[in-house]
Amino acid sequence: MTPFDFEPTDAQRQLRDTARKLATELLAPQAERLDREGGFPRENLLRLAQHGLLGVNVPRALGGLEAGAVAYSLMMTEIARACASTTVAVGVSNMVAEVICRFGTPEQQRAHVPKLCDGSHVVGAFALSESGAGSDPAGMRTRARKTDRGWVLDGSKMWISSGTDAGLFVVWARTGDAPGARGISAFLVPGDTPGLVRGKPEHKMGLRGSTTTPLEFHDCEIGPEALLDAEGRGFRIAMMALDGGRIGIGSQALGIGLGALDAFVGWVREGTGPRAASQDVQWALADSATALGAARLLTLRAAWLKEKGELFTHAASMAKLQASEAAVRVCGRLVEAMGPAALRTGNAVERCLRDVRVTMIYEGTSEVQRIVIGRDIARRFEGART
Ligand SMILES: Cc1cc2nc3c(=O)[nH]c(=O)nc-3n(C[C@H](O)[C@H](O)[C@H](O)COP(=O)(O)OP(=O)(O)OC[C@H]3O[C@@H](n4cnc5c(N)ncnc54)[C@H](O)[C@@H]3O)c2cc1C
Repeated sequence: MTPFDFEPTDAQRQLRDTARKLATELLAPQAERLDREGGFPRENLLRLAQHGLLGVNVPRALGGLEAGAVAYSLMMTEIARACASTTVAVGVSNMVAEVICRFGTPEQQRAHVPKLCDGSHVVGAFALSESGAGSDPAGMRTRARKTDRGWVLDGSKMWISSGTDAGLFVVWARTGDAPGARGISAFLVPGDTPGLVRGKPEHKMGLRGSTTTPLEFHDCEIGPEALLDAEGRGFRIAMMALDGGRIGIGSQALGIGLGALDAFVGWVREGTGPRAASQDVQWALADSATALGAARLLTLRAAWLKEKGELFTHAASMAKLQASEAAVRVCGRLVEAMGPAALRTGNAVERCLRDVRVTMIYEGTSEVQRIVIGRDIARRFEGART
């Protein structure tokens, strides 16, 4: 894709169509039940893995599709359009695979990435946040102590997506005495490591088919091969991973907004509410489609910059900020236009309204995105003046 070419390439279209087919035939029919009953969609994730969807931007040599960041964004939007919960595990697992490809040794890559891509690890999880250290992860307290056999982890994490089922965790912990971001390292921790305790999943307002759990580490011993990149380099790894992750969340939010719009159009077509030609319906459609259209452009632009190997931190934050806030507004607007019919349990617009809110929170809240974007723009102004 070039800056002015809005046509996906053949490979991007092919992956989008595969994701759309799986979303429509496999995920959409189960989304309402998954939301009602909660749990973790393990079988569905294994089906997605069979089609390569857990390693979209991962080299073929390591079991991935090597389809690029734009294809990844298109895939995430299609999956979220049918089932937002499923995209959480898909997005985080792809992010973990990409992190290991980028920062892992060849041994670490061979040990874990093919297992993430083919579902042998079920999925990967990203264990950064702690109580009181979410927006500011540099304030984390989990520690890793060096021993002659490797490392020992002690501490706890909060809000870890797929914490119930993940076969591999990237865990961030404080090593050494350097304060703040400088004293943090990242580790690859298999899910069956003794001393890693998975807590009970949170009861959440949305994304009820994605488990979110606390984790505890009690004298959790890991070998020297668990350290990702060098000691003290973990914070940088987390920030770079989150840059890419934010494209995923922007794509997810866009998909949830589109899913709500699909359900709204379906309701109008049923003919029990206002007529399609009424101004109420038309304005709701126009405002929603326009807001999501802008979100789509920013999200694909961020993905495109990433794919070209250019700086994309600021673009990814803009995409996440715009897409999540637009999708939250759209879901609210469509509920308003539908009236009480939208609030019936089991209605897809109601589910989207509950699912979408967290896209403004995880992988950096909207306020954090504003800080990233504002700081970057201010820095450029400074650069231009000096
Ligand atoms: C469903 C769900 C899944 C999650 N999955 C994961 C996961 O897989 N892995 C993981 O590591 N984490 C995960 N998280 C954690 C998530 O990333 C954090 O909740 C998020 O970063 C916010 O951090 P916090 O909860 O500590 O809130 P806080 O940082 O306490 O934020 C509270 C409020 O204060 C605002 N605020 C904070 N600092 C500033 C500031 N400097 N300027 C202006 N406003 C500010 C925030 O924007 C927010 O509105 C998940 C969270 C949820 C809800």
